[in-house]
Amino acid sequence: MKKILIAGNWKMNKTLRETEIFLEALLPADFPSIEGVICPPFTALGIANKHLRNSGLSLGAQNMDPHDFGAFTGEVSPLMLQELGVRYIILGHSERRTIFGESDECLRLKVKSAIEHRLMPILCVGETLEERERGITEKVIQKQLAGALQGLEVFPPLVIAYEPVWAIGTGKTATPAEAQQAHAFLRSILQNLWGTASDAIRILYGGSMNTRNAEDLLCQKDIDGGLIGGASLKAESFRELLAIAQQLSQR
Ligand code: PEP
Repeated sequence: MKKILIAGNWKMNKTLRETEIFLEALLPADFPSIEGVICPPFTALGIANKHLRNSGLSLGAQNMDPHDFGAFTGEVSPLMLQELGVRYIILGHSERRTIFGESDECLRLKVKSAIEHRLMPILCVGETLEERERGITEKVIQKQLAGALQGLEVFPPLVIAYEPVWAIGTGKTATPAEAQQAHAFLRSILQNLWGTASDAIRILYGGSMNTRNAEDLLCQKDIDGGLIGGASLKAESFRELLAIAQQLSQR
C-alpha cells in the first residue's frame, strides 16, 4: 500500500535560525505509517539535513538545474543537493512556471536529471482560474504532464502534485470532488502510459490545504497526500497535518 506523503514547501521563507526553531519544535515527529518531507530554501538545506537525520522525515528541495556542474550562474545542481541529503525535488511549481518562465521542455530535462540522480521529483501541474472557467483543466494538465514526462520509457520513481493555481496561497481550496476528478484524470493518464504498475505513483493535492480541510481531501480515492505551502510554515500545524495523515493511514 502507498504511504501517504505530506510535503511542506516553505518557498522563500525561513532563515537558518528560523529553520532551527521550527525543527526543534517539530522533532521528534513519530509518524511511522506515513512519509513527511520538508522542503526549505537552498540556504537552510544543510542545517535541516543535520536535524532531520534519523528523524523519520525526509528532506526536499524546491528546484534544481538539470546539469551536474558548469557555467550556470545562480543555479544549484543535483550533485550538490545529493550531498545535502536531499531526497525529493519539487519541479514545475506554478511559481517557477509563471515567475521564472519554466517551460515543459525545461521541466522534461529537470525530471530526467532528477531521476538519473536518484532524487524523487514532485512534479507539479495545475490550471489557472481562467483555464478552469474555460473548461480546459484536463487539456492543460495533460499537456503539462506529457511535456515533462516525454521520453521516459521506463516506469519512473515519481510523485505528481495537482495544484490548481487559483488555490495556491489564496485560501480557496478545490472541493474534494473537484480535486478527486482531476486526480482520477491524472491517474488514467499514468495508467495509459505505464499500465497498472503506475498506481505506485503518488498524486498529491496542493492548494490551501490546511488542518481543517486535509482530512476530507486525503480521504478521496486518488489523493495520496498533500503539498503544503502556508500551513507547513508553523511546526504545530505541520505536525497536525502529519498526525491527520497518520490517523487516516491506520483506518
Ligand atoms: C504550494 O506552494 O505548493 C502551496 C500549495 O501553497 P499553499 O498551501 O499555501 O496554497
